[in-house]
Amino acid sequence: MSILAVGTVAFDSIETPFGTAPRVLGGSASYLTLAARYFCPDVRLVGVVGRDFPDDYVQRFRDSGIDLRGLEVDESGDTFHWKGRYHYDLNERDTLDTQLNVLVDFEPTLPKDYRSSQIVCLGNLDPAVQRHVLDQIDDPGYVLCDTMNYWIQHTPDSLRETLQRVDCLVINDSEARELADEPNLVKTADIIRDMGPETLIIKKGEHGALLFNGDTVFSAPAYPLEAIEDPTGAGDTFAGGLAGHLAQVGSYGADDLRRGIIYGSAMASFAVERFGPERLYHLNQDLIVERARAFRELAAIPKLAPLQAA
Ligand code: AMP
Repeated sequence: MSILAVGTVAFDSIETPFGTAPRVLGGSASYLTLAARYFCPDVRLVGVVGRDFPDDYVQRFRDSGIDLRGLEVDESGDTFHWKGRYHYDLNERDTLDTQLNVLVDFEPTLPKDYRSSQIVCLGNLDPAVQRHVLDQIDDPGYVLCDTMNYWIQHTPDSLRETLQRVDCLVINDSEARELADEPNLVKTADIIRDMGPETLIIKKGEHGALLFNGDTVFSAPAYPLEAIEDPTGAGDTFAGGLAGHLAQVGSYGADDLRRGIIYGSAMASFAVERFGPERLYHLNQDLIVERARAFRELAAIPKLAPLQAA
């Protein structure tokens, strides 16, 4: 199975209560691919960088075994740059600046081999570009999509057009409420699934994730980490782990999605331990499986006894 991930490849300048990191590697496609590659040997990145993108960042993708034939270098401009600041409550963040730069004219033409990709991850990106990529895939087996408040606010109609072609939308709780214009998450799920995606995953930052699929809801726990340095990219890493698991098992049933959420959560819990994607370079299968098992145990509920009548 192959995974194609399109999204931003970025410089991120991050401030958290625990420190700052200027111009580190970031972007939705970066986190997605760096997580997915632990599960699937064929991960293809589609994105664009500018003339200022350092060779050693490119090399890090290469060393991670990611297929970069879909990474364009646009010498006419600079790389997408996002600046964000997290509050003491790390679920809260302010975007301080978004410089789209080379992303403004990004209209990717996929390498011919990429057209047969089976799992397509539409990372956080202009929804029109997400559709442009989908148009070039022959027969996508499963389409995952992420988005964020920027696109919900700036391109709402275009986003809805993309959602009609998506199997699974992965979105955080505040974005879900904004997209559906509804405060209650259960009602929100119905409204968003009516827009197209059969499956909806609502990420709740430090509080886990909810999966709405068929007639059921599944709740994945959050891992109680002692040291979180930087939550940036947690959502994309989550999507990368989920897509990776689906590629590994080669099917998209309810149990595959449930297990996928656990692997996605495990990957995200690693990513937040360091600034930028640093932690994602040095993982291995044993560490990932061990963390996924810890997630399973967190949610294990002992058998319930019947109530004693008073
Ligand atoms: P996450 O923390 O998973 O929501 O994603 C954070 C990543 O999204 C950062 O690495 C940013 O580079 C990237 N990002 C920020 N704003 C945008 C945007 N408007 N479109 C696409 N990617 C973005």
